[in-house]
Amino acid sequence: MLNAQIQTYAEQFETASPFEILTWASLRFGDKLAIVTSFQVTGIATLHMMQRIAPRTPVLTLDTGLLFPETQDLMDALEARFNLDLRRVKPRQTPAQQARDYGDRLWERNPDRCCHIRKTIPLRDALVGFEAWVTGLRRDQSPSRAATPIISRDARNRSIKIAPFANWTEETVWQYIHEHDLPYNRLHDIGYPSIGCWTCTKAAGEDDHRRSGRWANQGKIECGIHLPLPAVAEHAVEA
Ligand code: SF4
Repeated sequence: MLNAQIQTYAEQFETASPFEILTWASLRFGDKLAIVTSFQVTGIATLHMMQRIAPRTPVLTLDTGLLFPETQDLMDALEARFNLDLRRVKPRQTPAQQARDYGDRLWERNPDRCCHIRKTIPLRDALVGFEAWVTGLRRDQSPSRAATPIISRDARNRSIKIAPFANWTEETVWQYIHEHDLPYNRLHDIGYPSIGCWTCTKAAGEDDHRRSGRWANQGKIECGIHLPLPAVAEHAVEA
């Protein structure tokens, strides 16, 4: 897809609904489309909508080996409920192997490298063979996501990235979840608005942005899979 076409679609999609965008993506990319989700609420809304569009679209989730048990339970429940083609993408190293090669608790000393090993490289490998992927990014999640385009070229993964919910708010997504009686991560009820690895996720304060509990006090707010290439190149390790 040419950059000019992407730009045209990006403008058109500003006034389209997520359902319309997902329908377009499914028709345009067919079996070369993947959904990537960590089972936050926007991802769950995506999976629910896709049930009416293309229910067997592959679903990739980054199973770092360090997820909360609550997240694992939710993944199992949604896999069964929606009969998902769920692919749990694992890093090449277990946490123990990583500790052997890079030292214990790498996420405390060098979280960028840890995310690179456990998330960025595995996603890049898993997306080989797909032409486009759907993400649950929203503009209201953090200042770093405020300009998220609904469709863009993803140079890191040589793919097209589609964020159908980019201009939805957290409130709208929760409304959707409750209206459709969808399950969600129980940790949301005890102050965790955004949930990643248990090692790097804390509850957030009432007035904090929704990703403030991720890598709290480490000066990091993104794992790297959504950052442009140059921003993480200096941390890159060989795949
Ligand atoms: S979120 Fe933390 S533990 Fe998980 S991959 Fe990133 S740095 Fe490592």
